Amino acid sequence: STKPTIRLNDGSAMPQVGFGVWRVSNDDARRAVAGAIEAGYRSVDTASIYGNEEGVGEAIRSTPVAREELFITTKVWNDRQGYDSTLRAFDESLERLKLEYVDLYLIHWPMVGSEAYRDTWRALIKLQQDGRTKSIGVSNFMVPHLQRIIDETGVTPAVNQIELHPRLQQKELSAFHKANGIVTECWGPLGQGTILSDETFATIGRKYGKTPAQVILRWHLDNGFVVIPKSVTPSRIRDNIDVFDFKLDADDMRRIERLDAASGRVGPDPAVFA
Ligand code: NAD
Repeated sequence: STKPTIRLNDGSAMPQVGFGVWRVSNDDARRAVAGAIEAGYRSVDTASIYGNEEGVGEAIRSTPVAREELFITTKVWNDRQGYDSTLRAFDESLERLKLEYVDLYLIHWPMVGSEAYRDTWRALIKLQQDGRTKSIGVSNFMVPHLQRIIDETGVTPAVNQIELHPRLQQKELSAFHKANGIVTECWGPLGQGTILSDETFATIGRKYGKTPAQVILRWHLDNGFVVIPKSVTPSRIRDNIDVFDFKLDADDMRRIERLDAASGRVGPDPAVFA
């Protein structure tokens, strides 16, 4: 069945629900990614630092789904930033994945106290020009980082992958994205599991016969975001993409909007992370 995609600023289409594989071993990634593709996912989010590009690549090669129907993301880690080292890090990622190209290559973190992200961004532009990655973007960037690379190169990232969930709604940053044609891609869309027990989601879910996780993911979709929930449990992998047959009403959206919290972060803060 057809799943919704979002149009990126370079014309490519990105599936709105993808599969995240942080803290998943190569063995588990092989199994989980194969299961996810079987369940209908067409997008996988990995990174060189996750140490599972080999397993992800094996799953991709073993599936009957054609490569061009899949959307594969990987990222350059902090210790490889800079122009030449990023080009080499990209080659190494492709070798581990055993792929000819990726669909999206991201700068994993801006790294506080370093300006290397500016040369790293130029390397990503080169990789896109050479057709080795279809799209390029960033992750964990704040407004000043985004503004700087746009001003310096004239190339706007297709996406910014950031921590975003009902307890950390990132309204200022996502408004900047919207104004600049950047897609907001949410990591930790379920707050890494920590927000699922909030009664709000169970209450809303009962109206639609949906689980708390499905309600949260639907909230993201209704906001126009891309999500990449992670699970290695087959039933949850299936649940997390079974979110296209209902829609939250205005009252549900308002109740979830009220959960936004100043202290809502579950992951590192890019303002201090290096
Ligand atoms: P997540 O919000 O996707 O939560 C995952 C956890 O939630 C699982 O481990 C499980 O415990 C629980 N869960 C998942 N589905 C469930 C369900 N249906 N019912 C009940 N519990 C469920 O957190 P995440 O893994 O941190 O984020 C998703 C992906 O985002 C990662 O796998 C990774 O690909 C990416 N990510 C990127 C960055 C970055 O810096 N760019 C950082 C963290 C994660």
